Amino acid sequence: SLRLLRTFKQQQRSAFARLLSSLAVLEQREGKLQSASLSAVTAAQKLGGQVTGFVAGSGVRLVAEEAAKVKGLEKIIMIENAAYDKALPENYAPLLAENIKKEQFTHVFAGHSAFGKNLMPRVAALLDVQQISDITAIEGEDTFVRPIYAGNAILTVQSSDKIKIITIRGTAFAAAEANGGSAEIINGVDPNVQIKTEWLSEDLAKSDRPDLATASKVVSGGRGLKSKEDFDRIILPLADALGAGIGASRAAVDSGFADNSLQVGQTGKNVAPQLYLCAGISGAIQHLAGMKDSKVIAAINKDADAPIFQVADVGLVGNLFEKVPELTEKLKQ
Ligand code: FAD
Repeated sequence: SLRLLRTFKQQQRSAFARLLSSLAVLEQREGKLQSASLSAVTAAQKLGGQVTGFVAGSGVRLVAEEAAKVKGLEKIIMIENAAYDKALPENYAPLLAENIKKEQFTHVFAGHSAFGKNLMPRVAALLDVQQISDITAIEGEDTFVRPIYAGNAILTVQSSDKIKIITIRGTAFAAAEANGGSAEIINGVDPNVQIKTEWLSEDLAKSDRPDLATASKVVSGGRGLKSKEDFDRIILPLADALGAGIGASRAAVDSGFADNSLQVGQTGKNVAPQLYLCAGISGAIQHLAGMKDSKVIAAINKDADAPIFQVADVGLVGNLFEKVPELTEKLKQ
């Protein structure tokens, strides 16, 4: 009877999977598929059922062709229109909502990035459903797990909405493989909404170093660095010796030691690299919220009681102005 029950459950699950139809919203920038958004494909795959990708912008056919190769995608919906290039949510949200209604998707996933955070709540509002934010696990068709209070509590949410509009925490889902798929590309509907918002310009911090959000190693500096000159003089050579991306605490960013885009934590970026090495960071809960899932955490701090040592796998108590250059020299050798 146990076997019977199991077969019944399996049948139920596969019948269920057939009814599910998920959309992964893929972010593109300057005609390039953003690899971070491939985590949304993985999240969609966890549910089972058919998974479709979504891309929009000018000259987006190349992006669609790239997306068609992503393993696990069966279809790509493409909308070619320059109006969607910068993903202004005022026009991208109605576009997405129209396509969701037309294809009757049950689940829609996007990364919990600036793109997803800007877009998905508007889409949810247009569809008159609740948006489910920053999930780290999927327990079932309607049940999702998400951290709250800067990761101090884990909430399991169950949604009875017909369409689930979800943003996912990229560090909790690996990116889907970029090759091995052969999805069909179809044209989506374009509502051509006339909007009053216009894209003027952007001022992006450019760097040759690995991108903080996706780097396998990150070196971070905090208020202990004392000045921007010291941040640059101490932290950057260590990062270069390791081939690491650069991060900072909010105190370091607020003091002008590092660019805003480098902030790690509750109000900054979430990272989970193989190695997170930080110096002069005390380990406030809001900072830990953005890095505590890193595989190995190493910390240098002159205060042996600093809370960062409670999460660190490796700790060094000492003056960073001596220890970091010493470590950098050893790594170079
Ligand atoms: P401090 O706490 O001042 O720590 C400096 C550390 O450097 C100390 O531990 C000290 O012992 C050490 N030090 C000093 N000199 C040396 C030396 N010569 N050698 C070695 N060690 C030395 N913070 C974030 O980081 N990210 C966020 O996203 C974030 N979001 C927040 C959101 C909210 C709503 C709030 C209220 C706060 C947020 N914060 C965030 C701020 C957070 O609470 C802390 O204030 C901040 O993380 C502290 O940064 P810090 O560790 O660099 O500075």
